[in-house]
Amino acid sequence: MHENIQRTYTSAGDLLTLDFAAESEYRMFPGEEITIAKGYLSVIESLASVLPHGLIQLDRKVARIEWQPEAHQSNGHGCADRPVRIHFCDGSIMLADHVIVTVSLGVLKAGIGPDSGMFNPPLPAFKTEAISRLGFGVVNKLFLQLSSRHDGRDDDYSRFPFLQMAFHRPDSEWRHKKIPWWMRRTASLSPIYKNSGVLLSWFAGKEALELETLSDEEIIDGVSTTLSSFLSQPRKQTSSNSHEASNGKEKSLGSVGESRVKFTKVLRSKWGNDPLFLGSYSYVAVGSSGDDLDALAEPLPSTDTLESAGSPPLQILFAGEATHRTHYSTTHGAYFSGLREASRLLQHYRRAGV
Ligand SMILES: Cc1cc2nc3c(=O)[nH]c(=O)nc-3n(C[C@H](O)[C@H](O)[C@H](O)COP(=O)(O)OP(=O)(O)OC[C@H]3O[C@@H](n4cnc5c(N)ncnc54)[C@H](O)[C@@H]3O)c2cc1C
Repeated sequence: MHENIQRTYTSAGDLLTLDFAAESEYRMFPGEEITIAKGYLSVIESLASVLPHGLIQLDRKVARIEWQPEAHQSNGHGCADRPVRIHFCDGSIMLADHVIVTVSLGVLKAGIGPDSGMFNPPLPAFKTEAISRLGFGVVNKLFLQLSSRHDGRDDDYSRFPFLQMAFHRPDSEWRHKKIPWWMRRTASLSPIYKNSGVLLSWFAGKEALELETLSDEEIIDGVSTTLSSFLSQPRKQTSSNSHEASNGKEKSLGSVGESRVKFTKVLRSKWGNDPLFLGSYSYVAVGSSGDDLDALAEPLPSTDTLESAGSPPLQILFAGEATHRTHYSTTHGAYFSGLREASRLLQHYRRAGV
């Protein structure tokens, strides 16, 4: 059960691919975890509210970033002699002195592939190697709406427990054969808050990818079958020698188990197959290290390729969770990395006396 919880925390579908030594550099953010009632969009809208109207352009997918890796310094006013050309999928082009790339590590991994051409010329080896070595897994959330009681009373929801599930991995045969394989590494199923009629479950790795391909009916059937196996068992069978055991509140388990739990609606994320994400968040994989997260944060062209001293042109900067050495995989890591790159540009222009 703990293994499966860690798989969702880290996004490493197989914990053997996770570098535990390097992971020790990860820092928890102090304070309680909170759910933002109106969603993350409200944070973005608040941050964006101080910017001039129309400055942020949405729905403009970038196809290619053309940059100058040779030794071109800034022109004395902080601006590059030869700007970066951003090619959009709709065929339009934008010129920019600086570009901050914040796409996910999954999009970067796809972007350095031989057929991608996301960067022209391609990124230098120190970048592509770091991108390849770092881990980027798939984690998905599944929400299920419990059907209300036939007599119209909603307080039935309060009986659904915080259900934690542990599955034995048998050498030969599963005991409950009807439980689908993609449910067997699910650590928990629980109401999103006390008495809520909406349940939440987390999936990681290949089980998370499978979830993206299933129909709503297949999901409801798989979850219901799993629940029936857990909740309908006589108490003596949930002892330590049973194949599957749960440690939810026993009283609640018993009462829910009297009838088959029914669901009316399904909502799940599909981060693995979404072309704008291609996964969920980063982890330090075996063979990688915190240095790779730092390498990812390095602006281009890198200073050691520049011919003369002076202010580097900072054509391409990198931000996003995968560029933060201690808070990678999180929203605050992504936020801090944005502040870091904004500060880098401010210092650049201060040095140029602008
Ligand atoms: C299931 C799940 C649960 C999570 N829970 C938490 C949590 O509890 N706490 C927490 O702190 N973090 C959590 N995270 C992680 C957090 O959501 C990410 O770390 C964070 O969103 C990363 O932000 P980012 O800006 O680096 O990248 P992203 O959010 O991936 O943003 C990248 C942006 O680039 C855009 N993009 C991609 N390609 C292109 C292109 N070609 N042209 C133009 N734009 C493009 C995308 O549309 C996207 O808007 C969770 C993530 C998942 C999937």
